[in-house]
Amino acid sequence: MTVTEIAIAGFGKIARDQHVPSIARSDAFRLAATVSRNARADGIPAFGDIADMIAARPDVTAVALCMPPQARFGYAVAAIEAGLDVLLEKPPGASVAEVKALTRTAKAKGCVLFATWHSRFAAGVSAAKAWLATRRVLSARITWREDVRHWHPGQDWIWEPGGLGVFDPGINALSILTEILPVPVHVTDAELEFPANRATPIAARLTMYGAGDVIVAADFDWRQTGPQTWDIEVETDVGTLRLSKGGAEVEAAGRRLVAGEALQSEYDGLYSRFAHLLARRESEVDVSPLVHVADAFMLARRIETDPFHD
Ligand code: NAP
Repeated sequence: MTVTEIAIAGFGKIARDQHVPSIARSDAFRLAATVSRNARADGIPAFGDIADMIAARPDVTAVALCMPPQARFGYAVAAIEAGLDVLLEKPPGASVAEVKALTRTAKAKGCVLFATWHSRFAAGVSAAKAWLATRRVLSARITWREDVRHWHPGQDWIWEPGGLGVFDPGINALSILTEILPVPVHVTDAELEFPANRATPIAARLTMYGAGDVIVAADFDWRQTGPQTWDIEVETDVGTLRLSKGGAEVEAAGRRLVAGEALQSEYDGLYSRFAHLLARRESEVDVSPLVHVADAFMLARRIETDPFHD
């Protein structure tokens, strides 16, 4: 098997928690370098700038971009211009148009571009998709409620323009929804709650519509303490499908289809998919979850709420 020498750029929480262990477990990749302004990994050559890494390491042919979305585009352009294949953490960019621009640039340069949605690799997602494929969907409900202080301590970028606020986790639910529903839906109505001192929302409620009068209601909230909720319920003509724990568990019409653990195996599946795309020299870029978020911002009624302090 060909082993791809890969660099990770933006060496923060997700790079350490998920990318490094999954690369280490993969036969298809070897972590060859990190690119980060402040952080480094023990024993791995470290660069503070992507141009320096590209100049010093012609053996590195791929890079995983794990910095916050506001900075992703510049790194991606530098990598693609140098002929590197690129894996984008979610969300793939800070706007829909910049992701489309990257897609065009990657195609022109013959590079593989993989816009990842890690939640689509949760243990139950493919089973949920297969079960729904032969059913008539009537409606769906997303409940994605978590404690921002627990999951994002001190991460100022999530509150800055382009940081998405509560859609940073909420887009994971939308990435699952767009993967499993047999019909496309679009946002028709949205209500966003912005803390008085922040540029991004702490809570969002969306209504979506799809052909056949499918209605989806989504409730995203970052103020939930105690047990956390990452659930999607889909009503069909033959009963309810329930995805819980962020897509790790699935029950359909009262029968358990998959029982997994949250986050388990998502990134192993994601790197296996990247290896598959590299072997075929194919890109995979689905902007539909990002389009729903952009439409929510475009259509939303804005509600100002209490200031948020970490
Ligand atoms: P993070 O730890 O706050 O940031 C990652 C690293 O990116 C930082 O440590 C920083 O390293 C670098 N960085 C920050 N701002 C930058 C900028 N303006 N320009 C260049 N580099 C910058 O964030 P994270 O939690 O790992 O999340 C990063 C991405 O992964 C986000 O898109 C997020 O949605 C996604 N993600 C996160 C999780 C999670 O559980 N945390 C799960 C799945 C996906 P240096 O200071 O060393 O440059």
